[in-house]
Amino acid sequence: MNNTDKSMMPITLLIVDDDDIDREAIKRALRFTQRPLEIIEANTGRQGINQFQENKIDVLLIDYRLPDIDGFSVIRALKQSENVCTIIMVSQHEDEVVSAQAITVGAHDFLLKSEVNAERLNRAIHQAQHRHILENELRQKTKSLKSLAQTDYLTGLINRRSFEQILQESYVETHYSASTLAVLFIDLDHFKKINDSLGHSVGDKLLKKVAKRFKDSISKELLLARLGGDEFVILSQNIQTETEAIDIAQCIINCLQSPFIINSIAFDLSASIGISILGLCASTPEELMKCADIAMYKSKSHGRNQYRLYSDQMHAEAQNKQQLENELKSALKQNQFKVYYQPQINSGTNTVEGVEALVRWDHPQRGILSPAFFLELAEEMNLINEIGEWVLLTACTQLNQWHQDYELSPNELSVSVNLSALQLQDIRLLESVSSTLRKSGLDPCSLELEITESSIIHSPERIVGRLLELTQKNIKLSLDDFGTGYSSIQHLHLFPIHTLKIDKGFIAAHKQKSSQDQVLIAMIQFARTLGLKVIAEGVETKEQLQFCNDNKCDLIQGYYYSKPIPALEFEARFLKKSKAIA
Ligand code: C2E
Ligand code: CA
Ligand code: CA
Repeated sequence: MNNTDKSMMPITLLIVDDDDIDREAIKRALRFTQRPLEIIEANTGRQGINQFQENKIDVLLIDYRLPDIDGFSVIRALKQSENVCTIIMVSQHEDEVVSAQAITVGAHDFLLKSEVNAERLNRAIHQAQHRHILENELRQKTKSLKSLAQTDYLTGLINRRSFEQILQESYVETHYSASTLAVLFIDLDHFKKINDSLGHSVGDKLLKKVAKRFKDSISKELLLARLGGDEFVILSQNIQTETEAIDIAQCIINCLQSPFIINSIAFDLSASIGISILGLCASTPEELMKCADIAMYKSKSHGRNQYRLYSDQMHAEAQNKQQLENELKSALKQNQFKVYYQPQINSGTNTVEGVEALVRWDHPQRGILSPAFFLELAEEMNLINEIGEWVLLTACTQLNQWHQDYELSPNELSVSVNLSALQLQDIRLLESVSSTLRKSGLDPCSLELEITESSIIHSPERIVGRLLELTQKNIKLSLDDFGTGYSSIQHLHLFPIHTLKIDKGFIAAHKQKSSQDQVLIAMIQFARTLGLKVIAEGVETKEQLQFCNDNKCDLIQGYYYSKPIPALEFEARFLKKSKAIA
């Protein structure tokens, strides 16, 4: 619509002014504008607001000074409403501060009462209307930008941020409602495999279809959002019983029963779901999200394709874990880690040739804790590299000390330190090991790093390079827990390994399964032909020792000789008397 048309449109004008004479003057001037007008009048600010709400007002002429509330407050109140109109403020006096403030609160123009005549008013109305149109366009644009920021680009569902916002608002509303909220975390099972093997474009198509299927399967009142990746979430704002939340979860699981077809390939998908209910386990939106997440992980660890409702037991476990996390974070600073040492013995000569360093957490309340208790958590929390570096430094320093104190040559006694898979992934590994060796003063040839097959099997090329660099520094590598997992003979010559450690499970199974004994014997022979040193781990009995000796294991490690023990005890039992064990 062009401006000429606009000027001929009948407009409804509201004058808010307590001065009868001023109102009359404005009305007279308006009559001269020859615009088709309907004029409504108000004496006070409150009356003005009422008139505004009752009528469809196009233009508001408002005095700055009013007997009850000032013109600014009226404008602010009107701006809250959806149907804002063109606003012109009129004032008795010239005042720059007032005129600037008028524009700031939302007036489109400012006029002095002395300037009010047909021409000025006409122009002011015209310009103010134009400004108002521009303002509206801008508001529309901002609105669509806002909706773009609220939706997930791939699925068109609500995104995480606005989900959290809505959850927060719904939470406030529950104070006035008899029902409560339920949050369902949905995580697709093994989706990463599809993405990794078939690429992101297939993955994305699949996610779109999944989102649509979820949306079509659940009630329209429920809020479905994508949190990112293959994670979705549902909010029910009207839950009366647990069963209602469980029904929603069941509905999601059921809707995944039939396969998804993409590029003529059928994909079978399932999901793991965690449910949390406000008031039952969680009392804030943040807790709701956290509890649903924990329950979802429970579903995953119990075999996927199922739901779990956050329970008291999970609550206790989660609290326990949280406490452990906090304690673990400060354990290193508070010097609570210890290194225990377990001898590796040449049973032919009865001498200690090596020692494995094994970390312990000397917990202030719980006492000495084994790595099984905290290492996984340390990996999860990304603390393992720091802990690993500390163990390495402590063990190397200790060994160097023993070399000096007992006049041992670097080849006479070596130390084995375990490396976690995460440490192997770290590009700074070589740098960190080299600097630790320098700090400790230990000869690199006295250090053996223990790695497991599972930690190297998934990214051999990258890791092989890193391992080679270590061996070029004269550091030795041993393959730990051999016999569990892959036990691929192929790896033995792919990686620059010096030592093979036969897993204690194999030793424990001795005599129980003769077929395993045969496999073990073959493995030892094979390792020996490759020139590898063989260490038998977990040797507890004389019989097991005999078996290892018969099959020419180089070194024996196990409770038969000693459990892992603190440095001082190790020194007293294995180093002080002589190098030979009594
Ligand atoms: P691992 O490297 O296989 O270490 C051998 C484990 O077997 C040790 O358990 C040791 O105490 C135990 N062991 C030794 N001899 C016998 C025996 O005769 N019978 C039985 N039943 N067990 C025996 P520990 O010290 O509890 O360590 C468990 C695992 O934690 C280690 O297994 C290793 O994978 C990991 N670990 C220990 N210290 C560190 C460390 O500093 N860094 C990293 N990344 N992992 C570590
Ligand atoms: Ca080990
Ligand atoms: Ca082992």
